[in-house]
Amino acid sequence: MSEPDVGSYRRPDNLAEALTMLDRRPASVLAGGTDLVVLRADGTVDRAHDIVDIKGLSELRGISRDADGTLTIGAATTLRELARTTVVPPNAITDGAALVGGWQTRVRGTIGGNICRASPAGDTLPGILAAHAQLELASTTGTRLVPAHAFFTGPGRTVREPNELLTRVIVPASRGASAYLRFTYRRAMDLAVVGVAVHLEIENGRCVAARVALGAAAATPVPAPEAADALVGTELDEPSVAAAAQLVLNTATPIDDGRGSRAHRRTVLPVLAKRAIGIALERAREGHPR
Ligand SMILES: Cc1cc2nc3c(=O)[nH]c(=O)nc-3n(C[C@H](O)[C@H](O)[C@H](O)COP(=O)(O)OP(=O)(O)OC[C@H]3O[C@@H](n4cnc5c(N)ncnc54)[C@H](O)[C@@H]3O)c2cc1C
Repeated sequence: MSEPDVGSYRRPDNLAEALTMLDRRPASVLAGGTDLVVLRADGTVDRAHDIVDIKGLSELRGISRDADGTLTIGAATTLRELARTTVVPPNAITDGAALVGGWQTRVRGTIGGNICRASPAGDTLPGILAAHAQLELASTTGTRLVPAHAFFTGPGRTVREPNELLTRVIVPASRGASAYLRFTYRRAMDLAVVGVAVHLEIENGRCVAARVALGAAAATPVPAPEAADALVGTELDEPSVAAAAQLVLNTATPIDDGRGSRAHRRTVLPVLAKRAIGIALERAREGHPR
């Protein structure tokens, strides 16, 4: 019996070399490998593709904040680095990073891998939507920015072309605060049954801007604009928050699967939304901008 055709392993020295490799032959990007190894083993990713290992590329690592408050996260930044960063206060993206797998997964796994895997249950995805993040995609012909909400097209599918690399996650400056919560049956090493990210901006005790995004509630992570709009103009008192949280159900189209039923997901979502709003509000009052 002949061996299956397996692509070669390649480790570029810099970003330009990585982009050239992606341009020349069908290749899979390897960051932490916590998803890719599984996807290659089960045949979702073609094993004949070369592997281009970007983990060591310094251009893709690190978290920084510009003078104007813009936050930039390198795509190959590990989830552990992100979860423990002191560059920004805790927020929906860092909350998501802190929840992925166990510490072994977070030490290897990257934010770029979490985003490009495009699981509807990916824990950093609602946070990047709620933050209005832009995703920078690079190829040998240049770079383009894609808003996070336009990046995901279905489970495991995105607008990224095969020769493009996600290089940076760019989060605009904000006076608000945010939080992400998920529901799982176990505290760790479990994927979200549903997840909710909330971003709030408050002035003189009143909500002046809000964004809500849901995970594992549709085929892609989705914004929940009706819930967000219902928060704006309120003092975020209990009745306003409860009413807004209920409106996430206008966006959610969850499915029945091994992790939960549609009905259970619809029961949990408003509860989670209410709690996430509460944490974001607490952070906003404590002066945690992001
Ligand atoms: C035990 C275990 C527990 C897990 N628990 C969770 C969990 O709780 N929550 C959760 O969200 N996920 C979980 N995951 C999934 C996984 O760990 C995360 O999605 C992780 O962020 C993937 O990052 P990575 O760097 O390992 O990606 P990789 O496996 O290297 O790549 C994932 C995919 O993205 C592509 N890719 C990676 N980086 C780039 C880039 N910069 N540009 C273009 N394409 C790229 C790869 O080609 C591949 O298709 C778990 C995985 C394991 C093994």
